[in-house]
Amino acid sequence: MTKLLDVQGIGVAYGTAEVLRELSLHVDTGETVTLIGANGAGKTSCLRAISGLEPLTAGHVAFAGERIDTLTPRQRLERGLVHVPEGKRLFPRMTVTENLAMGGFLRGDKAGVKADIDLMCDRFPILRARRNQAAGSMSGGEQQILAFARGLMARPKLLLVDEPTVGLSPIMVKELSAALRSIHADGVAILLVEQNAAMALRLASRGYLLETGRCVAEDDTKALMSNDYVRKAYLGI
Ligand code: ATP
Repeated sequence: MTKLLDVQGIGVAYGTAEVLRELSLHVDTGETVTLIGANGAGKTSCLRAISGLEPLTAGHVAFAGERIDTLTPRQRLERGLVHVPEGKRLFPRMTVTENLAMGGFLRGDKAGVKADIDLMCDRFPILRARRNQAAGSMSGGEQQILAFARGLMARPKLLLVDEPTVGLSPIMVKELSAALRSIHADGVAILLVEQNAAMALRLASRGYLLETGRCVAEDDTKALMSNDYVRKAYLGI
């Protein structure tokens, strides 16, 4: 396996407050990796730094063998690094189809974009049922599925997924897990940030545990799930 994403010793600060320190992590081609941790641990800041939305105070980031931390977010997107942010950031007044088309805006091939919208609707049937409906009128879970599908429209090599299950019912959490599994089965690598550690550890093959901006544990997810500290503090068992 080659390292698709290689994050080395990064730091992020808001003013004088350092929220990430010396964080290193990697994601291999086609791998699902999770970053778990409590509220405020720095997970969102880490994803934002990788996609170029926050500047680094230290370290570097490489993607597919190329150093990318000096590139703009758009240049990173062009290379196949796609961020599905917390809160989905859909265009609420646009229809499902229009939102999907926006996901493919960097692609020149109109016919390909149209065909991929159809593929997304086959893959996530709820999107076909709602295709002419305003995105903002759908349920939270449906909007999250649309956010994944919009991300896939850019044909990513790696999806950075931030807290997809926040506020969703257990049934919807299951649906989203199935959606993430199918994305993984297609060979897209996923870096999943979650507070729902139980769900994230079941989905991913490796995980990192973040506490106050530092990585305090890193292992394959089976080992993390049987780690006493992780069980007590994050799985409640
Ligand atoms: P959550 O699950 O709440 O999103 P998180 O692990 O993703 O938590 P971050 O959102 O990365 O954590 O936040 C890390 C720390 O940085 C927190 O203490 C937060 O209050 C602070 N923080 C985040 N964004 C900003 C900002 N724009 N300005 C100042 N401080 C910020």
